[in-house]
Amino acid sequence: KRRLVVKIGTSSLILPNGRVNLRTVDRLAYTLASLNNQGFQVALVSSGAIGAGLASLQLTQRPQEIAKQQALAAIGQMELMRIYSQRFLDYQTQVAQILLTRDVLAFPVSRQHVLNTFEVLFEEGVIPIVNENDTVAVDELDHHTTFSDNDELSAMVAVRLQADQLIVLSDIDGFYDQNPRENPAAKKLARVTELTPAMQKAAGGSGSNFGTGGMVTKLRAAQAMMTAGKQMVLCNGANPTVIFDVVAGKPVGTVFG
Ligand code: ADP
Repeated sequence: KRRLVVKIGTSSLILPNGRVNLRTVDRLAYTLASLNNQGFQVALVSSGAIGAGLASLQLTQRPQEIAKQQALAAIGQMELMRIYSQRFLDYQTQVAQILLTRDVLAFPVSRQHVLNTFEVLFEEGVIPIVNENDTVAVDELDHHTTFSDNDELSAMVAVRLQADQLIVLSDIDGFYDQNPRENPAAKKLARVTELTPAMQKAAGGSGSNFGTGGMVTKLRAAQAMMTAGKQMVLCNGANPTVIFDVVAGKPVGTVFG
């Protein structure tokens, strides 16, 4: 069976007013449930817990304090899963939650337990929804346990699951030869088979910042997939039904690999 991992970023899930983008969630649930019905094995990696937590508490700004962010993640993760669970059930599909930290995937024993769980869920036609366990993992506290971003997490999960494709939904329709927000002449790359230094530079350069979020982590994810001989497709998450086109091999977004 064809196996897919889909990653959706905060920018696609949370509206500028801080609320969960229900239209996106609904279309995502519809699309993944349909593919699941057609026999695809699908896992979803979803960000947005802190955003959903802010909305639940009617806050508009992310707090500075780490413990407060973790508390928001704990609240928001449930709210997000509640919304997903409801929407997926509308399309007759059961979901399950898998929260991970880096060490869980690094240690062979815990990793195997996680992978076994995924296999049973796939066999049962349940869609696993994965996120980093934010209340345990904090970048500032321990670099060994955290993923810098769900882009990296999604790639690790996809590689370990031997998924055929990782589909990354972002707020942009692909990878450009320059940052399009800074340079209007930037051109979208339809296909990338090898990451060049020029591409790294276009993503914000390697080591220029801490390398969290943005294109830097997406290129890292792409590299991980290509090294494993698999594909990553980066495309716009504004309308998740785009996943149907990706799966059908139509030219959307940027294909890595
Ligand atoms: P998400 O929340 O979906 O992970 P991010 O905001 O982290 O999204 O990353 C997407 C953003 O990366 C784009 O909106 C764009 O502003 C920025 N970006 C930087 N360099 C590039 C590039 N070369 N091509 C496309 N986007 C780029």
